[in-house]
Amino acid sequence: MAETLDDSTPEPLCYLCRRNRESDLENDEPSYAGFWQDLCSECRFDQHVLAWASWTEWEELLGGNLHYLKGRIDSAPYSDGPPRYESDEMDELWRLQAYGLLVVYCGVRDAFGPEYSDERKIWHQFRQRPWMEFMIPTLHEKIHIDKINQLVDELLVREDIVTTVFSEYDEYPHLPADVHLKAVAPFTQLIDAFVKDEKLKDMTYYFRTSSGPIPHVIMQTRDVRKRHEIKKCPWETQMEFPMASVNEVSEYITMGVDEDYKYKMKAAMYQRVLCVQMAVKEWDSTVDLQALLEGLCDKVGMRKVFSLDDMERLVVKPGQKVWSYHVDEGGEE
Ligand SMILES: [Zn+2]
Repeated sequence: MAETLDDSTPEPLCYLCRRNRESDLENDEPSYAGFWQDLCSECRFDQHVLAWASWTEWEELLGGNLHYLKGRIDSAPYSDGPPRYESDEMDELWRLQAYGLLVVYCGVRDAFGPEYSDERKIWHQFRQRPWMEFMIPTLHEKIHIDKINQLVDELLVREDIVTTVFSEYDEYPHLPADVHLKAVAPFTQLIDAFVKDEKLKDMTYYFRTSSGPIPHVIMQTRDVRKRHEIKKCPWETQMEFPMASVNEVSEYITMGVDEDYKYKMKAAMYQRVLCVQMAVKEWDSTVDLQALLEGLCDKVGMRKVFSLDDMERLVVKPGQKVWSYHVDEGGEE
């Protein structure tokens, strides 16, 4: 019954809730620097949410995302778990942040199989094309809107990738299910177009896509009982990307609609962000999306005006800011 209060290693207690962190430590968690390492996974998540909400400047958001991409914090408003950028192919995504791009999702080129699963008694094959989603602010003084327009145009005309661009801030009209349009103006723009007759003025905010009416498949699998049958077996779609229709926008987590998201990424809302989704077109393509994007940013004259060193420094400050949200020791447990 008596507790052992000897001089051996103390129990690892969470700094905030004082619960034992042992079970957290047994899990395969990434190692954390600074104060994050003294928190249990639940408290850490709560603090991360507050941290993201506290970053109201785009620079802070870039700093927080850098932290996330480098695996120093384990949650982001757009994703539940640790970042999935383990491949060398995409291991320096943060370099794109120097242009002000916030990379929120990506997938690498991948393929395996057919391999036999003893458990399922089947031959399994998988393949994935590279894909990426990033956000870019349209109201930031360091990024000229003309450059953004040019970048978007460059992406949309390419034959080797499929691209979709839309404003996270605007609301778009829904189309009949059988209608596929390459460009759809948001409601506000439609009204402006009637009033001012300058309908192409802000193409940046149009929903625009180079996807065809049939959604672009980026992840497929197939299973067969007998190995020699695998080549005859049709692929099954596991994931489509980017969005092929404006109708998918509202089902998506958009900043203009979703309250949680708004709360979590204020800087994105204030900066009227554009969301850009892109995927490699052919299965055997060797296109490197990151290199392609960097090249196009340079081509249109976007400059690396956001310092990665500043982002590293900014990460420390919001961290300290987070502590000001720290619940009182005497408060509820
Ligand atoms: Zn805790």
